[in-house]
Amino acid sequence: MTTTTVDTVLGPVATAELGPTLMHEHIVTRSPGVQENWPHLWDRSEILAISEKKMADLYARGIRAVVDLTTVDLGRDIGLIAEVAKRSRVHVIVATGVWWMPQRYFYAHGVDKVAELFVRDITQGIGTSGIKAAIIKCATDTAGMTPVIENVLRASARAQKVTGVPISTHTWAAGRTGEMQQAIFAQEGVDLTRVIIGHSGDSEDLGYLRGLMERGSTIGMDRFGLEHFLPTAKRVEVVAKLCAGGYAGKMVLSHDANCWSDMLSEDDKKRTRPQWHYNHISDDILPALRKAGVSEDQIGQMLVRNPRAIFEARQPAASTTAGARR
Ligand SMILES: [Zn+2]
Repeated sequence: MTTTTVDTVLGPVATAELGPTLMHEHIVTRSPGVQENWPHLWDRSEILAISEKKMADLYARGIRAVVDLTTVDLGRDIGLIAEVAKRSRVHVIVATGVWWMPQRYFYAHGVDKVAELFVRDITQGIGTSGIKAAIIKCATDTAGMTPVIENVLRASARAQKVTGVPISTHTWAAGRTGEMQQAIFAQEGVDLTRVIIGHSGDSEDLGYLRGLMERGSTIGMDRFGLEHFLPTAKRVEVVAKLCAGGYAGKMVLSHDANCWSDMLSEDDKKRTRPQWHYNHISDDILPALRKAGVSEDQIGQMLVRNPRAIFEARQPAASTTAGARR
């Protein structure tokens, strides 16, 4: 049984309607606890206005869905996300999971207790919002597989098996941490085709990238515009080479950008990372890929058909329904 709808912020949407989809973005990222204690740092109406404009710009370029991979340790605010989604014509899909700055809670409570939280977000909804997450985010950065990160990865794996939704990761590509993640997921019995190894576009190590895909996963070429990890020309070259090698069916595209972040003001973003914004793929990368020999069909594969297939392949395990563990 495959599902033909995916849960978005505003309710289930037919996967056929998703269209061009950016698989790893953020609407708002912030440091949990800071705004609650220093509310003067936060102008909600201004953030909403900026977000509304950026989502409209995306829609005007033909993008029809974004996956917001903002987790609790990135300050996920489902009420704010819902407000933005209501003002936007772009579908917004949200995540459960934990990034690489996990609160100590996620170590203290063990793998299964953490998995229950993820399952709850997916099956019942986030908080009291009723909004269901449709993807699980987890992360391994430069510190590698610390005990708490391993807990979160194993919890992600178990929640994946119960719910059937995909996992999408953050990696430190230079340290090949995608391989460690695949090893943990495989140990936990996750079908690696249900996993997107994110930030793979930061790497030009074709052997590493092919290995991730040969083991079944999709790779996220998802930081276009972040020049300090890998310059644009290299990113384009890697995608073009892998397309030529027959891997278009295993890549998705995105920026890992945001509408607003408490880490970097809008002015600082423009000054230090001028290409890092929601429109870079539409405006600059797709033309560059075409020039590098990537076909329209391959672009459609990476931007439309792969995202659709990833959400359609949801097959919850019937037997282990830890729905029990709510
Ligand atoms: Zn991200």
